[in-house]
Amino acid sequence: MDETFLAQLRCPIDPRREATLSRDEQRLVCDGCRAHFPIKQGLPVLVPDEVELPAGMREVSQLPCQRRENRRKNAN
Ligand SMILES: [Zn+2]
Repeated sequence: MDETFLAQLRCPIDPRREATLSRDEQRLVCDGCRAHFPIKQGLPVLVPDEVELPAGMREVSQLPCQRRENRRKNAN
């Protein structure tokens, strides 16, 4: 996976599709929410169902990017 390709990827669970991803051995880490996504056979699997949450979080809704978006929705 080259750097140019990696730089184009965005976190699939970021409501704004803005968060970039960094390589961490056999997975990608979201620079925004710190969630992990696996790399299988050299290809990143960027689907919400494959997400691994950061330590201490049990649900996607607990991630900072999700909470921020929910607050914004509730304010409208
Ligand atoms: Zn993210």
